[in-house]
Amino acid sequence: MGGPQRRKRHHRGDTHLKKRWRTKRRTKDMDQIDDDLQDDNAAKLLHQEIDDDKPGSGQHYCLHCARYFVNSEALKGHFRTKVHKRRLKALEMEPYTIEESERAGGHGSYIPPKKRKMETQPLDDGTFDPSTEDVDMK
Ligand SMILES: [Zn+2]
Repeated sequence: MGGPQRRKRHHRGDTHLKKRWRTKRRTKDMDQIDDDLQDDNAAKLLHQEIDDDKPGSGQHYCLHCARYFVNSEALKGHFRTKVHKRRLKALEMEPYTIEESERAGGHGSYIPPKKRKMETQPLDDGTFDPSTEDVDMK
């Protein structure tokens, strides 16, 4: 009795590396999203052709989070979430600066990132106005 003794119960070694890699790949990179925020690209993303493979046929897209929502209610609901507001905050910094500051982390050469204004995209039907939203996060 006793069963097989050789089965490994724990994987060790590079799991933390894999995890890091996975989380990095899960969504678009920040510099890609930054690209999407350029007027031309943003317009294209917000007025996509109907694509039934995407949630909500690709008609309800959050530029900043690179996510599709099933309807405008879900999208509006998302705009009010912490996830979205946190993303806006993160995007207020120039993408290269974020990388720089990560690289400099803990080495005493931290340079305060350049800030820029970041607002939730307006919705076509005018039912969501970012200027009236409280995006204050402390
Ligand atoms: Zn969002």
